[in-house]
Amino acid sequence: MTQEGFTYAFNPSACATCGGKCCTGESGNIFVSVTEIAAIAKLLEMDEGEFRRTFLRKEGFRFSLKEKIVKGSFDCVFFDRSQNGCSIYTARPLQCRTFPFWDYFRHRIDELKAECPGIIHD
Ligand code: SF4
Ligand code: SF4
Repeated sequence: MTQEGFTYAFNPSACATCGGKCCTGESGNIFVSVTEIAAIAKLLEMDEGEFRRTFLRKEGFRFSLKEKIVKGSFDCVFFDRSQNGCSIYTARPLQCRTFPFWDYFRHRIDELKAECPGIIHD
C-alpha cells in the first residue's frame, strides 16, 4: 500500500503478528472529533456523555482516547490484547485510519520503522 507524497509503502499483513505496536507502548494522544465521538458512542450503544466521561480525556481544546497501563505499556483503552486488535475498529478515529501515512512521519521514516514492522522503505 502506498500513498502519494510518501516515500515508503505499508504492508497491512504485518498487523497480524505485530501485537498492535501503534496502539500500545509509549503514551500519546489519540484525538477524536465530535463526529467520531458520536460514532464510537453509537457503536458501543452508550450515552454520549457517559462515553466521554468513561473513555476520553481533555487535551487542551481537544479530546483524546484514554489509555490503560498494561505490563508497563500505555495501551489505547480500546486495544484488545486477547484479540490482538481494535475493539472499535469500524468506528476508529481518522488518526488511526490514516496511520502510518502521517505528515509527522513523512521525514521521520527511521522512527516510523522502529514502531511499525509493516513499513517498506529502501
Ligand atoms: S504498528 Fe504497523 S504493523 Fe503493527 S498493528 Fe500498527 S500498523 Fe499494523
Ligand atoms: S482506537 Fe483502535 S486503532 Fe486507534 S489506537 Fe485505539 S485500539 Fe488502536
